[in-house]
Amino acid sequence: EQWEAAVAAVRGLGGDAEIQLFCHVSPDGDALGSMLGFGLGLRRLGFTRVRAAFPGEFSVPGPYTELPGLDLLVPEADAYPAPALVVVFDVASESRLVGLAERVTAAPVSVVLDHHASNTGFGGIRLVDPHAAATSVLAEQLLSRLGVPLDAEIAECFYVALATDTGSFKFDMTTVAVHELAARLIATGLRPGDISRRIFDTRPFGAMKLAGEVLGRAVLDRDAAGGCGMVWTYATLADLARHGQPPYVLDTLIGPVRSVAEADVSVLVKQVAEGEWAVSLRSKGAIDVSGLAISQGGGGHRLAAGFTGYGAPAELVATVRRLLDDYRI
Ligand code: 5GP
Ligand code: MN
Ligand code: MN
Repeated sequence: EQWEAAVAAVRGLGGDAEIQLFCHVSPDGDALGSMLGFGLGLRRLGFTRVRAAFPGEFSVPGPYTELPGLDLLVPEADAYPAPALVVVFDVASESRLVGLAERVTAAPVSVVLDHHASNTGFGGIRLVDPHAAATSVLAEQLLSRLGVPLDAEIAECFYVALATDTGSFKFDMTTVAVHELAARLIATGLRPGDISRRIFDTRPFGAMKLAGEVLGRAVLDRDAAGGCGMVWTYATLADLARHGQPPYVLDTLIGPVRSVAEADVSVLVKQVAEGEWAVSLRSKGAIDVSGLAISQGGGGHRLAAGFTGYGAPAELVATVRRLLDDYRI
């Protein structure tokens, strides 16, 4: 009935109604892809006033600068002040919307599409499914219920989102349904090779040199989590500055860190500001890192989660290490 409510919320609007879309701070492929794909779908339905925004600096991470629908994006200051409908994508908790959270509360109607196990249940109409591989799965379902057929532009947005959150169709949540959706997306004429190369396999030289340094200082703690092992490293704002790189280039580094055979848990500590760090946690199955992250004020999925911590990287990692045993699966 939440789906029917969401369909009715959109159908009840006139074509000139203002619709505001939001996704989480530091947007990733799923946040941007699900939001822009859905926004394009609303346009196909005849809505002329659709804006998309995320909190923070108005800068789209390099891999996503060619996504279709980017013209829907506005700086957060230009988001509609009093839209008729707000739709939120890939946001587990209001904190991930920073200053935009109150817009959701204030909206006459809000719809939240999300797939985080840690979703806090904010918003009016909630389309939250922790079993969905990506928020774009839910966005596609809602467009389909609204009678919007997939086209190549919408499909590219959703494909980028799906490929991002399934680790290029490698994670456990890569189900039959995920491949069936991917097949329908590709059938619109997408070139998966081109998209993957652009999103995952293209980076500036400086980003590679930075990766070399950050990975080079990784520490393996074989005894952590009762012998399951933990590997960790960190990156500072000075590291980014030295190589002239923006923060999002660090998001790809958790991949190589988590590939370490001797560790179940991997940790990447990324400096956000003086004394403030974004801690990324991954597990291969021994630890519920989402529970651990929630205990530190963060959230995420069972095997991929994060939180914001204060202090120094080694202290934050010591805290994580101490908590691991409490979150064994
Ligand atoms: P990542 O480590 O790639 O930044 O995030 C992994 C997962 O944890 C994502 O699903 C993300 O939404 C969640 N996550 C990361 N950091 C935070 C945080 O500070 N708060 C919450 N609620 N979730 C987070
Ligand atoms: Mn996300
Ligand atoms: Mn997601």
